[in-house]
Amino acid sequence: MSLPPDYSAPADLLTGRNILITGAGDGIGRALAIACAEHGATTLLLGRTTAKLESVYDEIVDAGHPEPGLLPIDLAQLDAARINEVIDAVDTHYGALHGLVHNAALLGDRVPLSHYDTDTWHRLMQVNVNAVFLLTQALLPALERGNDASLIFTSSGVGQKPRAFWGAYAVSKYALEGFATLLADELENTSWTRSNIVNPGATRTSMRARAYPNEDPATLKTTSAVVPLFLYLLGPDSQGIHGQRFDA
Ligand code: NAP
Repeated sequence: MSLPPDYSAPADLLTGRNILITGAGDGIGRALAIACAEHGATTLLLGRTTAKLESVYDEIVDAGHPEPGLLPIDLAQLDAARINEVIDAVDTHYGALHGLVHNAALLGDRVPLSHYDTDTWHRLMQVNVNAVFLLTQALLPALERGNDASLIFTSSGVGQKPRAFWGAYAVSKYALEGFATLLADELENTSWTRSNIVNPGATRTSMRARAYPNEDPATLKTTSAVVPLFLYLLGPDSQGIHGQRFDA
């Protein structure tokens, strides 16, 4: 599926909504966090580099948008204590979540499986898959309290068709899509929480530059170009859309 043609997010689309975005300090997550705040949301910025999160925080606050919450967490180190901190922060300060965007990911190595570094493999699976499960499970109650909350899983072209030399990244995105599809099936008749997959496609970020070092970034769409699809799925305009896969 794709964004409805000519869709334009209303200025107040996300007013009163609390939206947690992982990997909010850079790339697509950064652009999305700022856009959500511009559309009225209170954002919870999760990422591993505090200075990057603070820069997003400053940009949002300086523009007069709702003050974000900061969750400086390395998803590679996500354990029960950190999970409880996230649950406490959400429950105490926000009460309910209306959106959770799983966006943070590692790229890893572009080498044949026979040469793939095993530590890198485990770290990727932890960040790109296990952390997604742990955060989703922990935050489902807060999402349920949000009524019509929206979960977005950020995948990739290799999430549907793994290709040679994409290693753990491709396998992790394949697993992510499996997780998102299974969860959507479980929530289908029991919950108002919606779950959808987004493939941003080739986008001008540092991850893309690492994956394709010889590519001219100027030929790629910017992060702002993929934001409208995420906004659409996070807001009430997409009410009832559930268990779908979107290409940006
Ligand atoms: P990016 O520029 O590398 O940004 C990724 C973000 O995730 C960064 O803020 C990074 O934090 C954060 N992150 C990475 N590891 C983390 C960890 N262990 N704990 C917490 N945060 C962590 O990548 P992007 O291109 O914006 O990608 C965003 C999403 O889109 C990813 O899921 C990616 O797979 C997907 N995607 C991107 C493209 C593309 O062409 N760009 C295409 C298809 C899919 P730091 O900045 O601190 O490292």
